[in-house]
Amino acid sequence: MALNLVFLGPPGAGKGTQAKQFAAARGIPHVSTGDMLREALAAGTELGLRAKAVMEQGRLVGDDIIIGVVRERLSRPDARPGFVLDGFPRTVPQAEALDTIVAGRDPLVIVDIEVPDEELVRRLTSRRVCGQCGANAPVPAPGEPVPTACGRCGGALTQRADDREDVIRERLRVYGRDTFPLVEYYSGRSTFRRVDGAQPAERVASDLAAAVASAAAAAAR
Ligand SMILES: [Zn+2]
Repeated sequence: MALNLVFLGPPGAGKGTQAKQFAAARGIPHVSTGDMLREALAAGTELGLRAKAVMEQGRLVGDDIIIGVVRERLSRPDARPGFVLDGFPRTVPQAEALDTIVAGRDPLVIVDIEVPDEELVRRLTSRRVCGQCGANAPVPAPGEPVPTACGRCGGALTQRADDREDVIRERLRVYGRDTFPLVEYYSGRSTFRRVDGAQPAERVASDLAAAVASAAAAAAR
């Protein structure tokens, strides 16, 4: 059976890292719509130019563009044994479009990585980047101090402007507002699973693998 996976999770849940690791371990593509858009912008492809025009007007890249990108990506041969979708779908209309795209293929397995807001705020406000070499400092575990010097070059660490608490809370509010209906959309399926993302990353990874295995078994029945 193909592993057709959707990873959901708020900013700060570690979803991108988990998705990348899981896809690499299973030899299936990690399909991150954020990465694909950034690459398209950098390469100046037709998609990149369309997205750029939209963003220059201060608008978000619309469903039609994103859905087109995902449809094309999932139709490639390397996605036949499965894929890990990261950052898509974000809305119910996108989820409906995805169901159409994968019609006739093995069922989607949806894993929601859940982390309480207070832990997300702690993680995101603890993020620091080196002003000298640009490296991201590891986010401290709960109870550990926020680092002030770069572990790689010793340079001073700074906080990005969009990692301020008020900005983060607004981002989480928007995520919750948009994602609640999405979780509702999927939660009745036998292949929907929740994973506790507030644990250390290795525990999250093993719980994730177990959740995917159990959902895949449910799909095969
Ligand atoms: Zn540094």
